[in-house]
Amino acid sequence: MSKRDYYELLEVAKDASDREIKKAYKRLAMKFHPDRTKGDKEKEETFKQIKEAYEVLMDDQKRAAYDQYGHAAFEQGGMGGGGGFGGGGADFGDIFGDVFGDIFGGGRRGGGGGGQRARRGSDLRYNLEMSLEEAVRGKSVEIKVPTYVQCEPCNGSGAKKGTQPKTCSTCHGHGQVQMRQGMFAVQQTCPSCNGKGSVISDPCNSCHGQGRVQKTKTLNAKIPSGVDTGDRIRLTGEGEAGEQGAPAGDLYVQVHVKDHPIFVRDENNLYCEMPISFSTAALGGEIEVPTLEGKVKLKVPKETQTGKMFRLRGKGVKSVRSHSIGDLMCKVVVETPINLTGDQVDLLRQLESKMSTSSKKHSPKETGFFDSVKKFFDDLKS
Ligand SMILES: [Zn+2]
Ligand SMILES: [Zn+2]
Repeated sequence: MSKRDYYELLEVAKDASDREIKKAYKRLAMKFHPDRTKGDKEKEETFKQIKEAYEVLMDDQKRAAYDQYGHAAFEQGGMGGGGGFGGGGADFGDIFGDVFGDIFGGGRRGGGGGGQRARRGSDLRYNLEMSLEEAVRGKSVEIKVPTYVQCEPCNGSGAKKGTQPKTCSTCHGHGQVQMRQGMFAVQQTCPSCNGKGSVISDPCNSCHGQGRVQKTKTLNAKIPSGVDTGDRIRLTGEGEAGEQGAPAGDLYVQVHVKDHPIFVRDENNLYCEMPISFSTAALGGEIEVPTLEGKVKLKVPKETQTGKMFRLRGKGVKSVRSHSIGDLMCKVVVETPINLTGDQVDLLRQLESKMSTSSKKHSPKETGFFDSVKKFFDDLKS
């Protein structure tokens, strides 16, 4: 299958800002997330592609590489993957590192000079489903991760207890050797030690010289309040342990917020619909509106039309990034009464006839609507 252009997939312009990309991703994720398209393989595939596009475009370096080389930039070490754990060679970009890095006490890994040593451990991804309430309030979660951890008997060195890895005699510990190719001298990874600079003559029994063993690790992750679908929290150094004492990868907790029966979230605002009775709408009254912190009273003015949106300031979600708080947008919907008794029908009929005798002044929409229709037909004639 040929790959679609990332910008095209996300339906954004080539110069779209991170914010625009994030917004587009959220919108598309709502449509294509496997939770919503149960069993539809084609949509699931589309979702994977959208996600991949998002991950690349939100990473400045990867985006620059993509802009320059297209998909060829990532041909090794696939990035994607379905549910559960991602792993493998590719590093996941870190879109929230700037925000969360300090929360978890880890800075970005330093570049680290020197030659190529043993391979750094892979990054892992953990998909975390949360309710809206949990996402808004934040939560400590215990996650179990099947991963590699440092081998204890050898402290990750891979050499049997009491022995040490020896400096590689081929490259003298540099990890690189010079090879002649015609006129040129080319630096290459040392074939004897695979670039590690050292060799183990007496490997550790527990890890067979790997310096790490497979284990399911239990971690506590603190999810900050205000996260939303698509947010990702980095746990520095909690990915797979590296081989022979190399640095560990990171673990990314990928947040997915489940649908809520009452509220729909958009950025920091929440939206809900409140049914109100025909008489409350006409005469005005007080209704109780649900918020995430409990019920609040809302005054409905008289002559409220159906579909009117009320803004409850500060009753939305507190942003995880800026600490600004969104609003709750409550749309009232006037309900048409059902199951009317004979008496009630009679009363309504009386009301109707009383209102129709006093012309159209009771129906603001209807009056405006018919005026428009009249003008429309008049314009057609002329
Ligand atoms: Zn070597
Ligand atoms: Zn060991």
